[in-house]
Order: sequence, then C-alpha cells, then structure tokens
Amino acid sequence: MPRPIIATIHPEAVRHNLERVQQAVPDAKLWSVIKANAYGHGIENVFEGLRATDGFAMLDLDEAQRVRNLGWRGPILLLEGVFEPRDLELCSRLGLWHAVHCDEQIDWLAAHKTQIGHRVFLKLNSGMNRLGFTPERFRAAYARLNALTQVDEISFMTHFSDADADHGVDHQLQVFHATTLDLPGERSISNSAATLLHGDEGDVRCDWVRPGIVLYGSSPDFPTHDAAHWGLEPTMTLSSRIIATQELHAGDTVGYGSRFECTEPLRLGVVACGYADGYPRVCPTGTPVLVDGVRTRTLGRVSMDMLAVDLTPVPKARIGSEVTLWGRASNGTVLPIDEVAAAAGTLAYELMCAVAPRVPKVVEGAGK
Ligand SMILES: *Cc1c(COP(=O)(O)O)cnc(C)c1O
Repeated sequence: MPRPIIATIHPEAVRHNLERVQQAVPDAKLWSVIKANAYGHGIENVFEGLRATDGFAMLDLDEAQRVRNLGWRGPILLLEGVFEPRDLELCSRLGLWHAVHCDEQIDWLAAHKTQIGHRVFLKLNSGMNRLGFTPERFRAAYARLNALTQVDEISFMTHFSDADADHGVDHQLQVFHATTLDLPGERSISNSAATLLHGDEGDVRCDWVRPGIVLYGSSPDFPTHDAAHWGLEPTMTLSSRIIATQELHAGDTVGYGSRFECTEPLRLGVVACGYADGYPRVCPTGTPVLVDGVRTRTLGRVSMDMLAVDLTPVPKARIGSEVTLWGRASNGTVLPIDEVAAAAGTLAYELMCAVAPRVPKVVEGAGK
C-alpha cells in the first residue's frame, strides 16, 4: 500500500468559487489566473471547473501550451509577457495575449515577423516597483507600441501591492487612471483581493479582473474575513492517516528537539505527513488539524515524513483514522487552509504551491 497521504482536488468547488467571483463583478470579464500549475492544483485538474471563465492567465509558455492542448480556444494572457524574442513565435502561433512591461519587449516585437496581429497588455508600474513602465515613460511606450504593425490591440494593466488592506488601492488607482486617462483600450487592474473588496467600484473593476487565490478557496483578506464569509469552498484537501499511536505520561516529550512536554497523560497519533510532503516545518504545537473530522492540534516539531497530533478530543481514533491537514474531511468539516498558513506565518498561496511532487493528486469525482 502506498503512503496514505493524498491531495484531493475538488473541481466542483473551483466551479463554485468562479461563480462567486462572477457574481461579485457581473459586468467584468475574468482572467482566471492559473500560474504555478494552477496554484499547485494542476492545470488539467481545474480546467473543467474554470471552463466558464473568459480567459486564462499565467506566466509560463509551457502552461499556455497545455491550456491550448486541453482544447481552449479563448483568450490566454502571459502576465509577464515574453522572456526572449523567440517566445513571440509561440505567441503568434497560439494566439496568446501578452503583457509588455519593458522597452526590450517592444524592441523584440518590432523585430518580430508575423502575419498575426498581437494583443498586448501594456503594464504600468503604479507603485509596486516590480514590473511595468513608470507613469513618466508610459506614454512613450504606448506610442511605440501603437506604431507597430505587429500589434493589433493595446490594453492596459497594473497590479496592486496592498489590495488586501483598507484603502490599499487608492493611490495606485489614481496613478493608473491619471496615466491612462484618454488612451483607448481595455483595462485590468484587480487581483482577488481588489475584486472581492472593491469589485462594486467601477474604476477598480474595469473591463477585466484577474482573480487567482479566491478561485482556490482562500480568503483574500484573512483573518479579517474567512473563506466562509466570502462563500468560497476549499478546492484542495491534504489528507493522510494515523500510522501509530502512543500513550504519553506527564513529563514525556514529543519529537525532535523535545519541543512539546506533556503535563498530563495524553494519547498521541503519528500522521504520515511531514515537511517533505509540503507541510510547513515551522507550524508550531497547536496548529489546527482534523482527525476523523474532529478538530484537534499538532504536537511538537514537524518531521520530514511525520507529525504528531493530540488525540484527546477523538478517543476512538486509531491506526488508519483519517487526518485532514487542510480542506474538507469525509464528515464535511472544513479546516480552512488559511488557518494552517497563519500558524506557519505565511499565506495559503505558499502552502498550495508547496505540496510536494511525492504527494499523489486525486481529482474528486474523476472516473465515475
Ligand atoms: C498572480 C497574479 C494575479 C492573481 O493574484 P491573486 O492574489 O492570486 O488573485 C493577478 N495579476 C497578476 C499580474 C498576477 O501576477
């Protein structure tokens, strides 16, 4: 028998979350962001759940190719644009839209031989200082692009650095609209947080929104609001089983570094899940976990292949009992991935992306 750890992907939850976003911004078109292999879920595993989207956005050309191979004929956007001139050939061949964020990318386009007019998103650096032209250089970039026969349509984008905070978008929003004011073309500025927190404001919503993390069921402003508040469902369950139990007495310690010491007798379960599976080693004693769908806590340090849980609230638990590290247990109880991420001092994004290749992915409902 294989080690009992698996990551179960829930395509129906992906579909549900997409609908939630569509309801939040009914007039906007959606780029469903599936970079990093759909935030660790596997593009092929979420594709059906996202079919009702208007377009797919990612970074890797290889991922764009995979979406075309799945039969998607609609828009695909490369959020970082091309990395070298020959990438433009694939853009022409697959009909990819691509961001243009630097002069070099315009040089490459100018030298690119193609019959196909490209659709590009000219990217403004409105303050995050990652990608994009500064407001001072934006118009010159637009003029250059607009003069190219290789370019068919120019749209405009920027990216928020603080969309999850109160008023976190105000300054960048003002810079974006002031810079693009009279330029003709579609606009896209909102990630998940801006879409859910400010989607009712037309100047934030614009023509296209670019949700990522909410499609995968994580709250964009946890812990202010949890996923249930936004009506989002978990799209990934990381589960395993108890492979051993121990009866501990007062004074006994647990795991490497003896980080947990019992003050009273306690039954402990050993779970087949460790940091080599992608479960964060930094999760301290007390990180929430479900055993047979009952909420309990981890004990001591996370090892490479195992971690320990407190079985006090689940006296019937034994070898083989189901353990839910995050997501939905068989009895329907949900442990939000955001809670585990918070215990690790990080975000659900990182946990989803870090699930190790050795963890088999299973798609719920597949093969039925
Ligand atoms: C990743 C990304 C998004 C999606 O961000 P979420 O916070 O996951 O919604 C949107 N736009 C760009 C440019 C991105 O890189």
